Amino acid sequence: MAKYIFVTGGVTSSLGKGIIAASLAKLLQARGFKVTIQKLDPYINVDPGTLNPYEHGECYVTDDGAETDLDLGHYERFLGTPTSQANNVTTGRIYQYVINKEREGAYLGKTVQVIPHITDEIKRRITLLASKHDYDIIITEIGGTVGDIESQPYIEAIRQLEWEMGNENCIIIHLTLIPYLKAAKELKTKPTQHSVKLMNENGLSPDIIACRTEEPLNADIKRKIALFCNVTEDAVIEAADAETIYDVPLLMMREHLDAICLQKLKLPLRNEPDLKNWKEFLNKLKHPKSKVVIGLVGKYVELQDAYKSILESFVHAGAMNECKVEVRNVHSEFLTAENIKSELSGLDGILVAPGFGSRGIEGKILAIQYARENKIPFFGICLGMQCSVIEFARNVLGLSQANSTEMDKLTTDPVIDIMEDQKNVVQMGGTMRLGAFDCEIDPQSKSYEVYGKSYISERHRHRWEFNNKYLEAFEQNGMKAVGRNPETGLVEMVEIPAHPFFIGAQFHPELKSTVENPHPLFVGFIKAAGEYAKEKKGRNTLESTSN
Ligand code: GLN
Repeated sequence: MAKYIFVTGGVTSSLGKGIIAASLAKLLQARGFKVTIQKLDPYINVDPGTLNPYEHGECYVTDDGAETDLDLGHYERFLGTPTSQANNVTTGRIYQYVINKEREGAYLGKTVQVIPHITDEIKRRITLLASKHDYDIIITEIGGTVGDIESQPYIEAIRQLEWEMGNENCIIIHLTLIPYLKAAKELKTKPTQHSVKLMNENGLSPDIIACRTEEPLNADIKRKIALFCNVTEDAVIEAADAETIYDVPLLMMREHLDAICLQKLKLPLRNEPDLKNWKEFLNKLKHPKSKVVIGLVGKYVELQDAYKSILESFVHAGAMNECKVEVRNVHSEFLTAENIKSELSGLDGILVAPGFGSRGIEGKILAIQYARENKIPFFGICLGMQCSVIEFARNVLGLSQANSTEMDKLTTDPVIDIMEDQKNVVQMGGTMRLGAFDCEIDPQSKSYEVYGKSYISERHRHRWEFNNKYLEAFEQNGMKAVGRNPETGLVEMVEIPAHPFFIGAQFHPELKSTVENPHPLFVGFIKAAGEYAKEKKGRNTLESTSN
């Protein structure tokens, strides 16, 4: 039978429950347990697919095509195992299911209520993962903060589960903030006491208190928290600010978070966590031998969460190349023919980001033209790839009006067009081309070199596609379709063979990069950027010596 660890948050949001949950999972996995993580989100949207990145950050897509919370990205990056629809549940999805059942008459004339019907459905979703897989431990993170009205049914569901399963099968970690008051030179425990009291009022008592803090917690503070929050002293865990999120598993190990959980769940400790690969990665990350500057061209650059997986993929690929990746944000909306050179000067590589709608499109196209003409390593993802096709059509094929029908419905040259099966779609949620699809790579391509194989599977999230009517013209003029879907013939990857590194991918490689398996396309891109940087340096020294 699987055992459960619930992670709740108190005092404030954004304390990093996802990172704590992922770090704990990593430690348990490294001890030999089979672990997964689940996120329950208390909002009414059925999934975050319809949410603006400004509201919610990136939408993470799983192999089975679920549009999910970005925390699932952390889970996959830390654990290296795939998640699925069952790993992310929202209040919207719970209610949708219960209401549909009510319409079918499944409740046999009963009044449908939050308790027991909504809470029963929450419990069913929590235990569903265990019924389908043989996990030893399931970590469930509850979004939001205790005390939020919308979190109440989740808190009640956990209370019931704990009552049903017993405390040795079900424990709670409460993550809170211990603020440091500069004027008083003191760490304050009162907000944590209040937050635990709120849980107590709902019939829950945390087993472990994890404390986010900027200052170390001394023994006195730990004892005080233990006393007022009714936990053992060793169950007060310091969660100090870390240099990188990838340090957190080691920090949690130092605090024995994994061992305490196992002890409370009456599970054997097994072996010490085997973190050899993880430490090697950290070592490379912290001791880079070179540096590259990559321009991230997008329209949400002011909000880092919007490109979370891309930024993390750079971290993984940088470590693999023993190279520090400095990301320079370039706002595509403000790029013009006049400022393009100054805005992009000094870059060793240019990544054009995914996106929806026409804002910032012309800036992306200008950046791509600049990368193509100046032979700067270029990597376009989804909309970034589509823009590289538009750019090539306009500036190389001479189709000055070329566009995607997403941006201009009536364009005379729809080089990117909506997929046939998308034309009659009216519902927006969950209807894109979503999830993992196979792709076959041309052995005569840079992409093949980078992947080292011809069959890959990558995750998608889009409605528009390369228009195959133009394929011949592109190929004859130097842009090749090097990745195709073997069943449908859809173009999944384009390249310019005459360019040192120019790759566009219709899919999202960033969703599959993990600490222990950095994505080959990112690794290849950073490598190419490193070579470009070196060559540029050589050129500059040559120029200065000849001057
Ligand atoms: N807007 C484009 C499409 O729907 C690209 C989507 C994306 O970049 N994820 O096809």
